[in-house]
Amino acid sequence: MAKDRGFTGKEGYFGEFGGRYAPEILTRALDELETAYRRLKKSKKFEKELEYYRRNYIGRPSPLTYAENLTKAWGGARIWLKREDLNHTGAHKINNAIGQALIAKSMGKRRVIAETGAGQHGVATATVGALFGFDTVVYMGEEDLRRQKLNEIRMQMLGAKVVGVSAGTATLKDATSEAMRDWALNVDHTHYIVGSAIGPHPFPMIVRDFQAIIGEESKKQFRKAEDKLPDAVVACVGGGSNAIGIFHEFLKEKKVKLYGVEAGGKGTSPGEHSATMLFGKTGFLHGTKTLVIQDENGQVLPAHSVSAGLDYPGVGPEHAYLHETGRVSYESVSDENALDAFLEVCRVEGIIPALETAHAFRFARDLAKDLGKKKDILICLSGRGDKDVAEVARLTGILKGEIL
Ligand SMILES: *Cc1c(COP(=O)(O)O)cnc(C)c1O
Repeated sequence: MAKDRGFTGKEGYFGEFGGRYAPEILTRALDELETAYRRLKKSKKFEKELEYYRRNYIGRPSPLTYAENLTKAWGGARIWLKREDLNHTGAHKINNAIGQALIAKSMGKRRVIAETGAGQHGVATATVGALFGFDTVVYMGEEDLRRQKLNEIRMQMLGAKVVGVSAGTATLKDATSEAMRDWALNVDHTHYIVGSAIGPHPFPMIVRDFQAIIGEESKKQFRKAEDKLPDAVVACVGGGSNAIGIFHEFLKEKKVKLYGVEAGGKGTSPGEHSATMLFGKTGFLHGTKTLVIQDENGQVLPAHSVSAGLDYPGVGPEHAYLHETGRVSYESVSDENALDAFLEVCRVEGIIPALETAHAFRFARDLAKDLGKKKDILICLSGRGDKDVAEVARLTGILKGEIL
């Protein structure tokens, strides 16, 4: 692992986590990105441009839906859904992809690259690539290409080149490593649109800032509907971008309990789960200091989840910090329970959620019972599940009429 060279600012840190532990060759690009972002952040023109695309292209603000049927079915706290599934391209990823594309454009970059797990960030990047005329390359693990065929086809239709990665477990970690390698080689004309709140500074900050719109809108919408704040907010955590996006506005509201839900997978042994908060130790992954699932020698261990988007052996550094301070509680939900929740949300509420989000739903069900009737739970419905229907059908035997 490269040393922390030339980066002395405290700003990239969340407590002891975060920072910049990237190869020296990327230092200039990371500095250039930070400078460009800080300049744009203060610019009224950029604010207007971002607002324009949010409204007229993504379709923001996304609705806040009261889930009357789930509330009744679960018999406890009232359930509210922040509908990121209704964004253009079907998940929260586009919030960040649009923002970073505008930065790339202002820096004069002609090419953008991305890593993707379930393919949602790849689709979002391919989309902004088409919109702004970038050459676009997306790295995706071979195992994920198998699980998420639909998104591979979407990316190709949008004009992106999809590169399969067969190293390691051929999933998100390996795709991210490959994208970092590409960036180091082509840094002059290429911007790496990192898809989650991970990576070296300034990425965790930039991704969080672009996703914070989720929490800002939710708070206003909830106040308007109920004249109060929700009692609890629940979001699934892979790298942690939808979760930090909805949490950020509520961090200062100490009465609002915050829950991040990781993938418990199929067991507690290494290679069976992606529960970084439960099993991770402080280490380094993809240029940042964070909690990482690793062995005694610091070797990163394979992660597993039924959902490709949660299948990551690290977590964004801000989450590691929020875990350490106790401000956010991190939980995990197994593959099997997530699949149950997926089908339950389809049938009870008429919404096909992403498999990632199904983890949040399952935890919220238990929480609703614990909190009882007068309380309110806000769930970040991070994306829609069209991409998952083939894999869920295969895993549950739904096509063979084994379950109905
Ligand atoms: C990518 C993705 C996730 C996981 O990524 P985070 O960065 O943790 O948000 C969750 N839900 C959906 C729908 C996704 O596409």
